[in-house]
Amino acid sequence: KQTQERDKDKADRATAELVLDQRTRMILLQMINQGVVSEIHGAISTGKEANVYGAVQYLDNDSTPIQRAIKVYKTAILVFKDRERYIAGEHRFKRGSEKGNNRKMVKLWAEKEFRNLRRLHSAGIACPEPLRLKLHVLVMEFLGDKRGYAFPRLRDARLTGDDVDEQWKNLYVQLLGIMRRLYQVCSLVHADLSEYNILYNDNQLYIIDVSQSVEHDHPRSLEFLRMDIKNVNDFFRRQGVDTLLDRTIFNFITVPEGPVSEPELSKAIERLYEVRPAAAETDEAVAEMEVDNEVFRNQYIPQTLDELYDIEKEADKPVDELVYKHMLADRVVADKKAGEEGSQSSDEGSVDDAAASGKGSGDEE
Ligand code: ADP
Ligand code: MG
Repeated sequence: KQTQERDKDKADRATAELVLDQRTRMILLQMINQGVVSEIHGAISTGKEANVYGAVQYLDNDSTPIQRAIKVYKTAILVFKDRERYIAGEHRFKRGSEKGNNRKMVKLWAEKEFRNLRRLHSAGIACPEPLRLKLHVLVMEFLGDKRGYAFPRLRDARLTGDDVDEQWKNLYVQLLGIMRRLYQVCSLVHADLSEYNILYNDNQLYIIDVSQSVEHDHPRSLEFLRMDIKNVNDFFRRQGVDTLLDRTIFNFITVPEGPVSEPELSKAIERLYEVRPAAAETDEAVAEMEVDNEVFRNQYIPQTLDELYDIEKEADKPVDELVYKHMLADRVVADKKAGEEGSQSSDEGSVDDAAASGKGSGDEE
């Protein structure tokens, strides 16, 4: 009894300053009681959809603490408030009736992230090992140093030495190999891959944030793959890397024949450089290649919400469908904002359907 009281005190103190809702506090308390973690520290990251906290676990008979990371998906309506601002004329998400759905959704996101991380991890792709999942709270391996500093995102990585260019090139090749392995071995497309969702340490890339990743037979997986490739190419080009064409990488990742592990992956990529058409000598040829790249990038990218929803209706898992719909709505909005197109294409009817179809389909409370 007393131990329990003490543990509860400890947990309360640990979670008090984190401004978490009661449900989340209860889950964390439970995890502390079960010894999954011993102490919860401050936020490593506070995002739109999730916060990530540092934590430590003290194992019995061992005084050296093990660092952990806890990702807490936000059950608040915050995200939806945001979304609603983007979806013109759509006021449904404001209503309290959506709360249950939101909870269900964040639980789904957390489950998806957990499952996907597990898949990556067992495929030997560097990522945080998923350790425990309870509703919208995910405990995973901490990617950082022993003092508790998280590894930087690739975006913030500062490479040093006199071979920085070569290091960037090697990281690029490493990442293309990871993308192929992810596709061929895990049957996944990351779908939000960028320098923000990759951590870097000591010439090693770590893939994170895989809650939105999709099976490669998902109707939109190839478009997501295209976007991932574009993000990766754009970033590495900015670092001065001589990048391969989007199309070349797309084929490299998706063609079933070929290696799926290192060092053969890297060798295969080097071969792609060797067989690359040496045509890009004249300005004209360069321009032509750029046009080709642009055409490739725009090929199947959905232009309207209607298009997305039409495809989404084909998906056979209704719950996933709901999640994807919200995700896709965000994605299109983001694309639109980026493109500054301003064409009115939000489909209120479909959004309503999305909200309605998730209702009353079992709730865990
Ligand atoms: P979000 O959905 O908010 O983008 P992420 O999974 O990308 O969530 O995590 C946000 C940030 O938290 C990352 O950019 C990274 O800095 C940090 N982070 C996430 N997971 C870990 C981890 N396992 N170890 C260390 N830091 C992490
Ligand atoms: Mg992220």
